[in-house]
Amino acid sequence: MSDQRRVAVWRDGAAVAVPADEPVVTAFDQGLGRGDGVFESVAVAGGRTPHLDAHLARMTRSAAVLELADPGRPVWCALVDTVLADWPADVEGVCRLFLTRGLGDGLPPTALALLAPVPAETVRQRNEGISVVSLGLGVPVGFRAQAPWLLGGAKTLSYAVNMAALRHAHSVGADDVVLTSLEGQLLEGPTSTAVWAAGGTLHTPPLETGILPGTTVARLFERAADDGWPTAYSPGTVADLHAADAVWLLSGVRLAAVVHTLDGVPRGDAGLTARVRALLAIP
Ligand code: PLP
Repeated sequence: MSDQRRVAVWRDGAAVAVPADEPVVTAFDQGLGRGDGVFESVAVAGGRTPHLDAHLARMTRSAAVLELADPGRPVWCALVDTVLADWPADVEGVCRLFLTRGLGDGLPPTALALLAPVPAETVRQRNEGISVVSLGLGVPVGFRAQAPWLLGGAKTLSYAVNMAALRHAHSVGADDVVLTSLEGQLLEGPTSTAVWAAGGTLHTPPLETGILPGTTVARLFERAADDGWPTAYSPGTVADLHAADAVWLLSGVRLAAVVHTLDGVPRGDAGLTARVRALLAIP
């Protein structure tokens, strides 16, 4: 697989392609030592990035929350174009954009793009669905909205807790996680947005809970509304997920992974996943 990986870094005012195994930052980069930075994972389909703009808009917002200078759309587009050059149109990819504080002390941030094929396991989960466990995050539901230092709603590089939650799920035989607040309110997955269908409406937790605003749920809700399927930002609990007609974890690359088991309890989807998939399909 290593021949299929691509890397580009912004250096001296230009996007520079770098062999995938070569270093691109120094050991002093603050993204490495402190996770001090932001990122995006952008789907590549048919050799294109059809949802790049939504990701760049979120990158700009995340960078502002961390008081990082966003290098701007032309830089990101040049980096994306560089990694996409000669990428085979029939290979589905994930393009990661990273912006770190670099060396700090007012020096320019580090901006780079990576591209790799979508892992087979991601495709399997998209097609076959996932087993999910609910885990507590231990934060009161309204706290992050009033605590900017917790960086709620920003897609930061500090994902060690998110990855640990996934490892915990794997250790108990599940694929993924839905995180809950101290009071048991639904938040999000470690790398996804929770969506459930109930009472003829698609629901997702309110952004005031400090969760990341998902680009995939935004696209789904816009298209569902156009298609006559009502949508709502609704507080919910794990009990609401058990009672729902269907539950999905949404993200840009895996898309809608239907939850077939929740906390060890098998559950169905009332045949709604096909409609969600159709709404998320690239036109
Ligand atoms: N929530 C978190 C914490 C995530 O990491 C992600 C995906 O990266 C999402 C939600 C879903 O976001 P998107 O649909 O833009 O991929």
